[in-house]
Amino acid sequence: MTGTSAIRGLVRGDAGALEPIVRRARELGITGWIRQDPEGVVRVHAEGEDSAVAGFVACLGGTVEVQPLAPEGHEQFAIRGVSAGAFVVQEHLATTRHFDFRLEVDGVMRSWAVPKGPSLDPAVKRLAVEVATKVARADFHPREAGARGVIVWDHGTYEQGGRVPWPEALARGHVVFVLHGEKLRGGFALQRTRPGAHAQWLLVKRRDDEARPGSDIVAEQPRSVLSGRTLDEQLAH
Ligand code: MN
Repeated sequence: MTGTSAIRGLVRGDAGALEPIVRRARELGITGWIRQDPEGVVRVHAEGEDSAVAGFVACLGGTVEVQPLAPEGHEQFAIRGVSAGAFVVQEHLATTRHFDFRLEVDGVMRSWAVPKGPSLDPAVKRLAVEVATKVARADFHPREAGARGVIVWDHGTYEQGGRVPWPEALARGHVVFVLHGEKLRGGFALQRTRPGAHAQWLLVKRRDDEARPGSDIVAEQPRSVLSGRTLDEQLAH
């Protein structure tokens, strides 16, 4: 009889290239993730049938320190710690004042208008209205010079997370991701609450080391990461 098992592994020594490990995992029907820390340490999470997990661990290079744990229910095997592209948050005065939250997905900037802006408080859920316009990353240049009524409030790169691969996860209406910005850092989730032409989502900070319960990052850090000006200062300039 075969059961399902899950392990976390820490690979010491040369684990080898990650892509062949991912292919092997998928061949074996293993789900989970692998990531290489900046220091070169490779960590892996693998779950599947007992024999498949054992076979997968055996195919890893170096020496593997294995810790058994309960299966988490992943739907794919993917590399983590790899940037999926850019993210940009702009504060924008149009008919109303709002924040435009943008994620690069497959070379295209996907946008949400967030009236109150993002929060680092996991208890706060911020309405995010999907903007249908999709601009190619190559054509997207977040600038302030010459553009009145907009500042680049934060920017950086992000990692796609979650059990469902992107962009399918977006189509299903639930994505989790990790932001590496100057103000926004750590895990976030976008959950669609109302589909349609102007689909409504909720933007929520996940509970992790970067969470700041009780904080109001938009009020605490209102300045542009490019010019150092607030939107009001930029408008008066
Ligand atoms: Mn806007």
